[in-house]
Amino acid sequence: MQNPLTPEVLADPVALTRALVDIESVSLNEKAIADCVEEVLRGVPHLTTYRHSNTVMARTDLGRAQRVVLAGHLDTVPLNGNFPSTMRGDLMYGCGTSDMKSGVAFALHLAVTLPDPRYDVTYFFYEAEEIESRYNGLTLVGQTHPEWLQADFAVLLEPTYGIVEAGCQGTMRAIVTTHGERAHAARSWHGVNAIHGAGEVLRRLTAYEGRRVTIEGCDYREGLNAVRITGGVAGNVIPDHCEIEINYRYAPDRDPAAAEAHLREVFVGFDLAVTDAAAGAAPGLESPAAQEFLAAVGAAPIGKLGWTDVARFAAMGIPALNFGPGDPNLAHHKDEHVELTKIRDGAATLHRWLAPA
Ligand SMILES: [Zn+2]
Repeated sequence: MQNPLTPEVLADPVALTRALVDIESVSLNEKAIADCVEEVLRGVPHLTTYRHSNTVMARTDLGRAQRVVLAGHLDTVPLNGNFPSTMRGDLMYGCGTSDMKSGVAFALHLAVTLPDPRYDVTYFFYEAEEIESRYNGLTLVGQTHPEWLQADFAVLLEPTYGIVEAGCQGTMRAIVTTHGERAHAARSWHGVNAIHGAGEVLRRLTAYEGRRVTIEGCDYREGLNAVRITGGVAGNVIPDHCEIEINYRYAPDRDPAAAEAHLREVFVGFDLAVTDAAAGAAPGLESPAAQEFLAAVGAAPIGKLGWTDVARFAAMGIPALNFGPGDPNLAHHKDEHVELTKIRDGAATLHRWLAPA
């Protein structure tokens, strides 16, 4: 295949977005796009390029005092009649336009066109963000080549509609179980109904008021919800067992241990087992590179509510934030699209930040 990422395409973030969208790369099928990206980067004299599976990393080594990461995932969710891309006025439609090939285009455009950035830059193009964590290119590189990720600050080019979404909330899932005693439904007074026992769990959830927390000027809003409920034996049996699955989204001033302690407080008197937890990430806006980035964007940051890979960087002690041209509300939708002006403005912002003073 002829590489569609030609010098003319690489010079224009809009054309580059479109070319990237038109290389199909549903999760676990990133080889073709990774090959194209790697070939481009290996031809750039001011970069050193590495590859692990379908994750490609390229870096400058200019001896700058600080190093920053620009990272984007190459994969998309499954196609939904939205491939290849189409144009309608100022909008580009197609799978991955918003989440997040327009962001990937920022990094690839800068990697090729900016030989002397004011920080050393690591450009990171990784596989399998949209599926389970064990496939995630950041996870794999963190296990095999953790030194590739070393930096003072990271920008994830996930869709944020051109503003800074800082940090991210943590997420925890837990099962609350109620117990009873089986009996024939015709003589129910001999048993204890575990589904009725769930009523008190649901009452606490309904009455629950999520915290609102402001950290470094960013607002986070917590949520505690039942997301699944299972119970019952048969149409004529008083059930002895009911499980309510709980999802808790918590602000990054709590770590998973504190989040679990809070859940145990809310559901005191009930059986509770945590089944899954991911730590959030503090906004991390205090580093000089982050402050200069905010100045280049020129708009106040907001807190990121959904969990993103910024938490993986935060876990390595690297402050990270989200910044990309796509609209996060459109990610994973059939009519996913991106505004061309957001691509142009965002690329200019990153260039302002990274270009030598
Ligand atoms: Zn994404």
